[in-house]
Amino acid sequence: MAGSSSGKKIARIIVSRCMKTGKDYGIRWEKTDSDLWIATWSFKIPSSQKNSNDYKQSGDALSGEFKFPPDYPGCPHCQGRITIRCIDCKKIYCHDIEKGIKTRCPWCKMDGVLNINPNPTPSPLTIDGNVDR
Ligand SMILES: [Zn+2]
Ligand SMILES: [Zn+2]
Repeated sequence: MAGSSSGKKIARIIVSRCMKTGKDYGIRWEKTDSDLWIATWSFKIPSSQKNSNDYKQSGDALSGEFKFPPDYPGCPHCQGRITIRCIDCKKIYCHDIEKGIKTRCPWCKMDGVLNINPNPTPSPLTIDGNVDR
């Protein structure tokens, strides 16, 4: 597509995995002016496209800060409202906070405990990588 030269957006699709179902999904991130990435969308990856290069990027492909706006839809498989970046393998996965604070990375199987504020702030989706062993 030949777009206009101004207002170019940098966007990436990052593969995430659902902790509950073990299925992969994509999160679309848009980069703002600074090193801040905003999650704009999440979607199930069609199995026919699983091996496409579009869906090869994992969490370590992004550096900077991550933010989930209040209208981010959550995990498309389980509707988990929390997204975690594993401190071990740097990959991204979902977590449903209603299941408690114990978590296990579906990529590298690292067990962890979510290090979160028990009194959720207005946006419950800002947690990223705060996992204690
Ligand atoms: Zn999920
Ligand atoms: Zn991991």
